[in-house]
Amino acid sequence: MRRSAFFMPTLKEKPAEAEIVSHVLMLRAGMVRQASAGIYSWLPLGFRVLKNIERIVREEQDAAGAQEVLMPTIQAADLWKQSGRYDDYGKEMLRIEDRHGREMLYGPTNEELITDIFRHAAKSYRDLPKMLYHIQWKFRDEVRPRFGVMRGREFLMKDGYSFDLDFEGAKKSYNKMFVAYLRTFARMGLKAIPMEAETGPIGGDLSHEFIILADTGETEVFCHADLLDYDVLAESIDFDGDLSPIVDYWTKYYARTDDMHDQAAYEAAVPEDRRVRRRGIEVGHIFYFGDKYSQPLGAEVTTADDRQVAVHSGSYGVGVSRLVGGIIEASHDEHGIIWPEAVAPFRVGLINLKVDDAACSGAAEDLYGKLMNAGVEVLYDDTEERGGAKFAEMDLIGLPWQLVVGPRGLKNGVVELKERRSGERQELSPEAALAKLAS
Ligand code: ATP
Ligand code: MG
Repeated sequence: MRRSAFFMPTLKEKPAEAEIVSHVLMLRAGMVRQASAGIYSWLPLGFRVLKNIERIVREEQDAAGAQEVLMPTIQAADLWKQSGRYDDYGKEMLRIEDRHGREMLYGPTNEELITDIFRHAAKSYRDLPKMLYHIQWKFRDEVRPRFGVMRGREFLMKDGYSFDLDFEGAKKSYNKMFVAYLRTFARMGLKAIPMEAETGPIGGDLSHEFIILADTGETEVFCHADLLDYDVLAESIDFDGDLSPIVDYWTKYYARTDDMHDQAAYEAAVPEDRRVRRRGIEVGHIFYFGDKYSQPLGAEVTTADDRQVAVHSGSYGVGVSRLVGGIIEASHDEHGIIWPEAVAPFRVGLINLKVDDAACSGAAEDLYGKLMNAGVEVLYDDTEERGGAKFAEMDLIGLPWQLVVGPRGLKNGVVELKERRSGERQELSPEAALAKLAS
């Protein structure tokens, strides 16, 4: 993509409305634009990141055996009345009336709708287990939308749901999602720690929030430092195998948010020099809720010995749009964003330092063409801006690699390659740079 053609309305100044660094940087880099309070339009740079995050989430859900569906954003109120949540949900739910006076709503979540789909399709234990998910916009009329996309009113969520015959089955589904979530966030370059969360009236221990550490996080968190050292992607996973050793490893350590924190238990469980007390951002939540929805909505199957039982379910959410801000909170410096490779909007920022110099432009154009042919995603700054402004913008938008072509280097047959994260620069021939970036 040529910078001269790319729609990326960057801002030089810090926008007054933004309180935290990810919001500031997303606005400055022209990734999103607020449409109204807590509701955003995604501009090309931001949308590319959102799609990369979505793709990783999807790949891990598919690997874990969940199947993708797409449910609507608008739902009928009837199902919510059956589950009893129509009144409970309160003002966070956006309620709509259609032209026939029917009560509708913009879905804040989808337990009712998926249970309705499931109950009409599944009749027997042979239809189980099943895991279904979708990636769809949600609306919650939050009291205080803030921090940009981190706490929006409209936001993109992956929500998945499992259906099992009994608790043992449900626990297996839960473990699959537990491990899929560990992998999902690790692939985005994040350290996300599963922390014990409220289970509500169901009790038990099958509720975890996945939290990434960042100073601007809304919750205070407490955990054992060993959890931060674990390399999730080091082992390959068989989702059909026994995942309980992995889950047991993570859950044997103390890891809780302030809602669940118990200072005495924390001090007893974690040696002083291994205590981590930080702030965190919730990026995912997995939750077993038994027959909470299957019972009132009548999602029952016949067992092998011909009994009718309500299925056991869980729900599994990932804050896809929140992650865009969350990743920036976890990965930036004073100059701007530092995208982990896997979610970066482009892999390479190619800078032509002197567009009116024939040799310089020739070399830059040649590299651009060759990188594109090699399938590398490149943002090519071919504008007439001065060098300083180009460097500052590339640092701001945080592409993993910057490749700089200038007349002085070219005289010696070299271009400069800078790694955004470390700031390390090296001079090398255009061919060597190409070989490195195309690998
Ligand atoms: P929170 O405690 O942050 O309000 P929640 O517990 O209500 O979130 P869930 O219902 O568990 O959220 O939703 C699943 C995921 O969706 C959350 O882990 C979070 O990443 C994301 N999410 C929830 N609310 C918002 C929001 N207002 N804006 C952006 N993402 C959100
Ligand atoms: Mg939650």
